[in-house]
Amino acid sequence: MSRRAVAVRVEGVVQGVGFRPYVHGLATRLGLAGIVGNDERGVFIVVEGGGAPVEEFLAALAGDPPPLATIERISTGPAPVTGRRTFVIAPSAAGEGRRALVSPDVATCDACLREVTDPADRRHGYAFTNCTDCGPRFTIVRDVPYDRANTTMAGFLMCADCAGEYHDPADRRFHAQPVCCAACGPRLGFTGPGGTGPPGTGDPLRRAVRLLRAGGVLAVKGLGGYHLAALAAHEPAVAALRARKHREDKPFAVMAGDLDEARRLCEVDPAEERLLTGPARPVVLLRRLPDAPVAPSVAPGNRWLGVLLPYTPLHHLLLRELGRPIVLTSGNVSDEPIAYRDEDALERLGGIADAFLTHDRPIHVRTDDSVVRVFRGRDLPIRRSRGYVPRPLALARAAPRPVLACGAELKHTFCLVKEDRAFVSHHIGDLGNYETLRSFTEGVEHFRRLFDITPGVVAHDLHPEYLSTKWALDQDADLVGVQHHHAHVASCLADNGVAGPVAGVAFDGLGYGLDGTLWGGEFLVAGLAGFERAGHLVPVPMPGGVTAIRQPWRMAAAYLDLAYEGDVPEDLDVVRRNAGQWAAVVALARRGGNAPPTSSMGRLFDAVAAVAGVRDAITYEGQAAVEFEQLADPAVDDAYACGLDLAGTRFTVPGAALVRAVADDLRAGVPRDVVAARFHNAVARVVADGCALIREARGLSTVALSGGVFQNLLLLGRAVTLLEERGFTVLTHHRVPPNDGGVSLGQAAVAAARDHA
Ligand code: ZN
Ligand code: ZN
Ligand code: FE
Repeated sequence: MSRRAVAVRVEGVVQGVGFRPYVHGLATRLGLAGIVGNDERGVFIVVEGGGAPVEEFLAALAGDPPPLATIERISTGPAPVTGRRTFVIAPSAAGEGRRALVSPDVATCDACLREVTDPADRRHGYAFTNCTDCGPRFTIVRDVPYDRANTTMAGFLMCADCAGEYHDPADRRFHAQPVCCAACGPRLGFTGPGGTGPPGTGDPLRRAVRLLRAGGVLAVKGLGGYHLAALAAHEPAVAALRARKHREDKPFAVMAGDLDEARRLCEVDPAEERLLTGPARPVVLLRRLPDAPVAPSVAPGNRWLGVLLPYTPLHHLLLRELGRPIVLTSGNVSDEPIAYRDEDALERLGGIADAFLTHDRPIHVRTDDSVVRVFRGRDLPIRRSRGYVPRPLALARAAPRPVLACGAELKHTFCLVKEDRAFVSHHIGDLGNYETLRSFTEGVEHFRRLFDITPGVVAHDLHPEYLSTKWALDQDADLVGVQHHHAHVASCLADNGVAGPVAGVAFDGLGYGLDGTLWGGEFLVAGLAGFERAGHLVPVPMPGGVTAIRQPWRMAAAYLDLAYEGDVPEDLDVVRRNAGQWAAVVALARRGGNAPPTSSMGRLFDAVAAVAGVRDAITYEGQAAVEFEQLADPAVDDAYACGLDLAGTRFTVPGAALVRAVADDLRAGVPRDVVAARFHNAVARVVADGCALIREARGLSTVALSGGVFQNLLLLGRAVTLLEERGFTVLTHHRVPPNDGGVSLGQAAVAAARDHA
């Protein structure tokens, strides 16, 4: 039998995911000799042996890699036959791994969970148990290569038992960088009533459980930051958490102990189950059961509930000991970023939490929980962060030069591109303050170092007041300004690996337009490199500027004034409720000045929600639209008529006609849930009609739907159905959010495409 040797190179997320032990096991099983090791490009392998086993080895490598690995490329070539007898794992060399990819954090695997819950196991009850298949990654990595010394585990010296596992190629923990146990690893601590327990004393977990059972609010140090917890069914505890956090209405997420417990709260379909139990463990937005044992303050007036399952041993232990679900929300006051450094957390959360359950493993990168919902069986990300970041997104075409895209302002992310990989950052937050701006700039530096990227091109939004724009303009690189809604559509194209051109529909709150006005109800003919504005909502003044965002009734006043040509019926509830300021706000809208015109679809939703009595003022972004969506009766299929007006090569959408139809129906006594449904259906028809006009004029039959308004599942579902009925191919988001969290990917795709030109 002839012997042969093959050199193999594997690229992708292949370090820190158990790849070398997997290769070692596979080769040994097949009786092959050789070597496997990490280097700066990923994993290199040489296998030597009989022709058939070598073929089998290569097939298994490509077809059945370890679960956490993402293989981007496998290349093979001949190697000299040396007659070696054994298969060995090469030790890491200094400087390796610079271009290899850091893995996202991974939820506790079943094998680790079994150990943690097995009284006979040496890791029984140990809150920091992990292995090559699971555990902290991105949140603890300080530098590359991914080795313990470059993580926040550097300060913990492995005990002899752990070191034995770490060095044993046959062990599940072989080369698991954060490997540890109760004898050598991080420890829990408890600070609160009954005094402070320094790490390692008392039983912090039991004390935390007692506090929660008594209705207390507990701060818990997790993977990417501190959370605030309270019993989900305990109304006074949840209400206290809300009041102290200054979070009035925005729903809280709930952590359930396991899938069965989640099913007692919500409906869970197979796609949602896959998400809930998968390695990323995001918060999944689920349909809440009518009798779900959850306090009213958890998600007031919401048919949906954000649910997540435990993703660290600490969460598993806490939930098992408690035996019931908890609210788990980011540790911050209102819109500040989540606290992740111990001293900062004690200071900022001291007024909210009754006690702290902490530990002594530092968090290097603040990373919020991800939020995902399921649309037609596929992921629709709302926030892409822990568990997903920094896994790169493959681009259809490699960028000529590395790109840094600086993102927008709200729900901020940035994105670095090198060749055909886009690294979209963790969720930074709203870039309105020093703390988040610092997270952004430090994040950029961290990503540049981790992935060895020096951007030659810097992409930014056109809004001159965005902090991300101002920062970009100071950078020493070629600058590319990308219009906000073009970035949204390009984000959807990149998300789907499509180059365009397409009919792009970008509906959102606000974005800076080419003409200096605020856009947000846009139909674009767009490819990656460029776009034309094909249609848009008729601009309407925003009386009071940003005040109109917080007070949707102001948009109602502006729209109704147009809809009824200055003669608004006084019997409308929205007029009565706001009678004191109505005339002044209408005057402001007519006069201009502090009433910038906007074609925003988000503002149209606000106006209609206020007219329908959903709410006149909001406490979180998009609240009126979110509640208006839930008001709608999904059984209603008819829609208000809304003709599009052609003006030259462009069309406009008269939003005021829809507001008029809504107001007339309400005055005629039509139920609000019917009105809300008819409005949603009308907007879906507007989408389809606008795209039909574009198809007639330009022959484009693919549509991309993007922008925060398309987080509205009722609208999204109706629009996609109508478009598909009319023969369109429809692209929606699956890898990055349709909201501004996805804008950085779009900016990067545009900048890379222009760099080709
Ligand atoms: Zn594990
Ligand atoms: Zn140990
Ligand atoms: Fe936007």
